[in-house]
Amino acid sequence: MKKRILAVLTVILTILGMTACSTGVSLPSISKEDVPDMPEVSVSVSPASESAEVEHEIEPEPADDNSFALIAKSYRKVTYLDNDGKAAVTYDFSDKDGEIAEVIDDNVIFIEGRFDGDIYEYHATAYNVVTKESKEIWKSEDYIKTDSYDGVLYLCSYSYNDNHYTEAAFDAQSFKEIDNSKNQKLYDALDGYTLMNSEPVSGNYYNYTCVQRIFDKVGFALVADDTIELSTVYKFDGKKTEAVSLPVRAGSIEAYDKNFVYYTDYDTSDLISFDYKDKYCVMDEKINSVMAFEDGVLYWSEMDPAWYGAELVALYSFDENTGKTDLIATPQKHAGMTKSVIPGVTGFTVAGDCVYYIADDSVKTEWYRIVPDDTFAYIIEPIGEVLQNYDFLRYGKVKYVNDVFYCPYCNEAVGKGYIEYFELNDNVSPNAAKINETLADAAKNTLESFIEHERLTIGDESLCKDYHGEYYSVTYQNYNVNDVYTVGENYISIDMDGYWYGGGAHDLPIYSFNLFDLTTGEQVGIRDLFKGSEEDLKKAVAENTKKLAEEQIEDYGYSVFFAADAEGVYKDAYEYITFDNFEAMYGTDSLTCVIPPYALAPYAAGIIEVKIPYSELGIKLD
Ligand SMILES: [Zn+2]
Repeated sequence: MKKRILAVLTVILTILGMTACSTGVSLPSISKEDVPDMPEVSVSVSPASESAEVEHEIEPEPADDNSFALIAKSYRKVTYLDNDGKAAVTYDFSDKDGEIAEVIDDNVIFIEGRFDGDIYEYHATAYNVVTKESKEIWKSEDYIKTDSYDGVLYLCSYSYNDNHYTEAAFDAQSFKEIDNSKNQKLYDALDGYTLMNSEPVSGNYYNYTCVQRIFDKVGFALVADDTIELSTVYKFDGKKTEAVSLPVRAGSIEAYDKNFVYYTDYDTSDLISFDYKDKYCVMDEKINSVMAFEDGVLYWSEMDPAWYGAELVALYSFDENTGKTDLIATPQKHAGMTKSVIPGVTGFTVAGDCVYYIADDSVKTEWYRIVPDDTFAYIIEPIGEVLQNYDFLRYGKVKYVNDVFYCPYCNEAVGKGYIEYFELNDNVSPNAAKINETLADAAKNTLESFIEHERLTIGDESLCKDYHGEYYSVTYQNYNVNDVYTVGENYISIDMDGYWYGGGAHDLPIYSFNLFDLTTGEQVGIRDLFKGSEEDLKKAVAENTKKLAEEQIEDYGYSVFFAADAEGVYKDAYEYITFDNFEAMYGTDSLTCVIPPYALAPYAAGIIEVKIPYSELGIKLD
């Protein structure tokens, strides 16, 4: 349980970080009238199949030499494709540390940061899926980015100390270092400038573009000497040459080649193409992210804020060679599915004629591909690799309510709420209807109070002038069904988690664990289960929190808590816990008291979980 929740939260934070960057600054303004009302949508879900995870053979067959592999980063899985572009074999790297950065034939390249003695260093390692041997390739004090190009693995790091790029080259078969002084000279000449588009796109197969690739494909690189005021960039071909005046100040350069530079408008986040001379056009006003740029074809996604939480993603391609823009797919996110996947955007990979991405169908998350057919239509099909099943759907289905608050002065979507709720199948309990009403009402009330809070906060127009148009002004509340499971014979727990952001540096994780008595349909809390006094509860939680701190001090030499010592942790926990300030996951033999960030420890420590055996509390759940 613990691992799963923390993993999910980490993923959320990561995703949010990425979204904030790729979205640039502001969401486009859309008047409320343009946006279709979002009805409360009931998602009908057929029960998940009883066979849970799709298990692969324990010893997968080695992939053949011509195969191509897809990386599902957050699932830590690499799927090799067969000659028909379908899933052939999948390797699960859940038990390996480091980020999966690249796949070169039988080798998977990992980038892992770790302490070696007293310095933190990043290591690039090649793991061979056939021989199961790992080989260290390179290490750097700075984060390492990879690009496998033309038989060479380029590893690049950028030092913020001296603003200097280092690019090392290795033979992509032996991983022996080879001479790269020619390209390193280019990098040395770049000192003082920032290379644009060195990390072109999210989810692309390579996570960095080596200078060799840029020069081979484009003939020059775009560089800037001021990355804040991005209205002038320079062409660089060994030395800074011609300046390019962008017609609109750029938020970020997304991609470029000989013919066009594609970038986002700093003020509006519109996606713009510019031919380096005088012609430019707004390609999309609602761009969410640019995913790939391959052979003169740009791929990007668009999301309407009105679909917040239940994203209906439009995927577009623009082919420079034909001048044609196509809507190639419209995958949608379904209630109950993982938050770490933006359908159509996560995993987006172009290979040959096909585009691959991760999405869900309301019962499972899996890899899909888009195959262009002869009639210029696009066929979308699963490739046969399921990444996640959702066992809790055996108990019912997930529904949701959502709403967007538009600023009355500028019409920006400034408050976004998405709240899921679970609906039990009738056969789970004779009181299913009663439980479902409680859950649905709670979801609606949570959403209404969030939106109402936004309405009250907006106040007069000065707030709009000061904050809107900047991405950090967008507040949100997401609440998702995380898990549903029975406890003993007579109880069911519906676990929710999500995040709330009301401004400031970061969002806050939110959660609730809703335990119901199936024989009565009543929600059950600590007051019903614990027969002791509030004082007894305080002591029990404080004692176990102190134990946790002592274990941490024993293991690491320090604890994550604010308090300097275990006694201080006891005191803080004792003061924090009350019957009302008590949230717990109920298991078979113990409960896990869950304490939010800032209550006893800093934000970085995350949610504190304190396990307490029922025997200590005199609780019995059966
Ligand atoms: Zn406004």
